[in-house]
Amino acid sequence: MARERLYLFDTTLRDGAQTNGVDFTLTDKLTIARMLDELGVDYVEAGYPGANPIDTTFFAEKRPAHAKITAFGMTRRPGRSASNDPGLAALLAAEADAICFVAKSWDYHVRVALETTDEENLASIRDSVRAAKAKGREVLLDCEHFFDGYKANPSYALACAKAACDEGARWVVLCDTNGGTLPHEVEKVVGEVCKQIPGDHIGIHAHNDTEQAVANTFAAVRAGARQIQGTLNGLGERCGNANLVSIIPTLKLKPDFSEKFDIGVSDEALGHIARVSHALDDLLNRAADRHAPYVGESAFATKAGIHASAIMKEPETYEHVAPELVGNKRKLLVSDQSGRSHLLAELDRIGFAVDKDDPRLSRLLDEVKEREAIGYAYEAADASFELLARRLLGKVPRYFDVEKFDVNVEQRVNAKGERVTVSQAVVKVKVGDELLISAGEGNGPVNALDVALRKDLGKYQSYITGLELTDYRVRILNAGTEAVTRVLIESEDETGDHWTTIGVSPNIIDASFQALMDSIVYKLLKSGAPA
Ligand SMILES: [Zn+2]
Repeated sequence: MARERLYLFDTTLRDGAQTNGVDFTLTDKLTIARMLDELGVDYVEAGYPGANPIDTTFFAEKRPAHAKITAFGMTRRPGRSASNDPGLAALLAAEADAICFVAKSWDYHVRVALETTDEENLASIRDSVRAAKAKGREVLLDCEHFFDGYKANPSYALACAKAACDEGARWVVLCDTNGGTLPHEVEKVVGEVCKQIPGDHIGIHAHNDTEQAVANTFAAVRAGARQIQGTLNGLGERCGNANLVSIIPTLKLKPDFSEKFDIGVSDEALGHIARVSHALDDLLNRAADRHAPYVGESAFATKAGIHASAIMKEPETYEHVAPELVGNKRKLLVSDQSGRSHLLAELDRIGFAVDKDDPRLSRLLDEVKEREAIGYAYEAADASFELLARRLLGKVPRYFDVEKFDVNVEQRVNAKGERVTVSQAVVKVKVGDELLISAGEGNGPVNALDVALRKDLGKYQSYITGLELTDYRVRILNAGTEAVTRVLIESEDETGDHWTTIGVSPNIIDASFQALMDSIVYKLLKSGAPA
């Protein structure tokens, strides 16, 4: 059976940029657009030309891409002609393959927000589509608040969609702008619209305000829509947009969709989707969601003993898809619940062949249990676990010794009369016979310590230049009789690898120091630094 084509429209750079705390630079936008293009999405909506300097510059030159670079903007303003609307003119002038207009489709909004008549709104849609078509652009119309509008006045909402279609718009996109529509409602409404407008001209734009943007998207596809709008990692204002990182694997791997539809994402590109998702988080300087479907670190992680031993025998028993298909990894968590077989499997994964009767295995298991009792959590700190195992079972070279460190935090009034807090650290490190002393300043004591520690490691310095700390998390725990601090540090290197290390101590500086040291030693080990 011939499969139908489904089109993917990404709006990370436009709707995703509405996210609280997200502020893309031009370089960010170009990087993301390239990633999306490589992934195989069909449309990249890049912003509003004319609305701000970054978006205007983005569109100023045409960049080669497989995806259609799409400019977004309003239909002509009510009461003006298309030729006398500067906003529309900027949109039409942009070097874009496609133009996506946004228009009201709820008569209530036409009256209250636009303060115009239903007929003038329809005329504005028609004129704008016609003007963009005349410029040779592919045209899309985002029907804002379509589902609410359809509930209130179905014939008017439909008239807006049809006005665009009749003028030759390629797509009419039904938007659940406030994200409140439920999947059964989406399926019903899209089904009704598809009786009037062919589904291969209908798109869906869902927001996640009831945690159902992805479900709403699939409901629309089942009802006939053939374009999907969404963002990477579900980025978007309030609760976000439909998450393409969840939608794409489902379309490719679930037979109900994969047998019916083709998308522009190849199997090979699907194998990079976890990396794409993490690259966006890195760019936004955010910690990745460990529990993200398909791509999160925990998406294929199992902890309980009985499950873990079954997974080792038959991975399919507990996994709905194979992790490698989406560029993820199976993970058996090492924790105090873990048994011997579980530990063996984890050691095997990191490349240790240990006999199951090796007495060192019991020592490692006891050590893990003892440490977890005082607050360590190795399931969250893969690199620290690996170092612990290597130290007990094999060998970790003693690359360097920190003979001494000193951290100083001072609050004072500076020359401008402002109260400032300054952190400084001095570290004395011995590398072979060489004694190195480094000082560092930071925006806090841990940062200062990190700066000083990584400033000069003598002959090992070149191995750690690509090391970056990407996340730092602190928790106060009540373990035993006293409160202790648990620090988790996430690191990354020039190859894009991520790892997490842990430190536990009653003192936050000591806990941070342990986690920092583990991260550096792990990096030296993985880079094959000579002992
Ligand atoms: Zn939106």
